[in-house]
Amino acid sequence: MRKWVFAFILVILLSYGISQLNVKSAGEDKVNIENGSLPTEDSQVITVGKEQVHQGDLLLVNNDHALHPEGIRSDIVSLSDRQDLVQGFGLLDPAIQLSESVAKDFGEMVKGAKQDGVEHFLINSGYRDAAKQDQLYRDMGHDYALPAYHSEHNLGLSLDIGSTEAKMDDAEEGKWLKKHAWEYGFILRYPKGKEEITGIQYEPWHFRYVGKAHSAIMYHEDLTLEQYLDKLKMAKAMSIKTGGIQYTVAYYPMVGSSATVQVPKGQQYDISGNNYDGVIVTSYV
Ligand SMILES: [Zn+2]
Repeated sequence: MRKWVFAFILVILLSYGISQLNVKSAGEDKVNIENGSLPTEDSQVITVGKEQVHQGDLLLVNNDHALHPEGIRSDIVSLSDRQDLVQGFGLLDPAIQLSESVAKDFGEMVKGAKQDGVEHFLINSGYRDAAKQDQLYRDMGHDYALPAYHSEHNLGLSLDIGSTEAKMDDAEEGKWLKKHAWEYGFILRYPKGKEEITGIQYEPWHFRYVGKAHSAIMYHEDLTLEQYLDKLKMAKAMSIKTGGIQYTVAYYPMVGSSATVQVPKGQQYDISGNNYDGVIVTSYV
């Protein structure tokens, strides 16, 4: 009899565990996150050099990890020169710069918000070069700014988003982004309650582009970039289905001056470093 009770409890616990894998759904689009890597018959092995550790969308740049110059996006543009990219939102300063591809994804996000009647967005800050960051650090001090090469703004992947209506924490724009930014590849980088992990106070305005597979996992599992990169390193590989696309995300350590990684045969993939000890391959399968 006891055995049956034990088995019953085990079944309950297992089904609870499985249900936790099928986390929140986004509209009709269910998000499924599982551990799992690419099947070997559909993939090939390639070697990447150690410079790749410091390049890509997933670089961790914070007080402990400085940005390497090769991590700065090569597609930085001045937004006021590119009116095609500035549709449906304002710029606090005409000198604001950003990665062109991030600006395009931001534009898509603004369009999505407009469909929900949220349309008073403003970009307050984007890419900052080292000299500008250094000046900000001197002006604002250690509590409010990071030294040059330690701010994500130096990458070109982060932006401070405002609302013309209210403070971001109260504004509809801030509320909408908190709920939907992940659908466009962005994360709220310094959330409330995670200050000890990020080392930065809650910033309802600071969003970072990481890519859709990663933003979906971080949002649904409530992970900061620090926590996500740690988790991926432990899990080695995860798969996620979101926006109708199946992604496999896998971590590979750098051994000496190279890493041997598995990529899909004849399918699209991205490689990004974590900026400290390895690379992450994102496959679209
Ligand atoms: Zn910021």
